[in-house]
Amino acid sequence: MDTRALSSRTMEAREIPGLFFAGEALDITGWLGGYNLQWAWASGAAAGRAA
Ligand SMILES: Cc1cc2nc3c(=O)[nH]c(=O)nc-3n(C[C@H](O)[C@H](O)[C@H](O)COP(=O)(O)OP(=O)(O)OC[C@H]3O[C@@H](n4cnc5c(N)ncnc54)[C@H](O)[C@@H]3O)c2cc1C
Repeated sequence: MDTRALSSRTMEAREIPGLFFAGEALDITGWLGGYNLQWAWASGAAAGRAA
């Protein structure tokens, strides 16, 4: 999923309200050292709070 299709605050799809994405479903590349897990948790928390 291209991140431009989402709200950067809530991870909600701009075109489909109520549809949220997190973690590896998104086109994000993290540096080695835990950043992929950090992204999965942070984006999941943001989406979960907004849903
Ligand atoms: C070998 C390996 C080593 C890694 N090491 C690191 C590291 O050291 N540091 C780091 O930051 N990142 C690391 N990563 C990356 C990190 O693990 C992932 O970026 C992160 O786990 C992604 O989280 P996610 O929740 O998006 O996906 P996942 O953790 O893959 O979770 C997706 C979940 O959805 C479930 N699922 C799939 N299909 C369905 C379905 N149809 N219905 C219901 N459930 C379904 C799966 O079973 C799975 O539990 C590593 C990855 C691998 C493969």
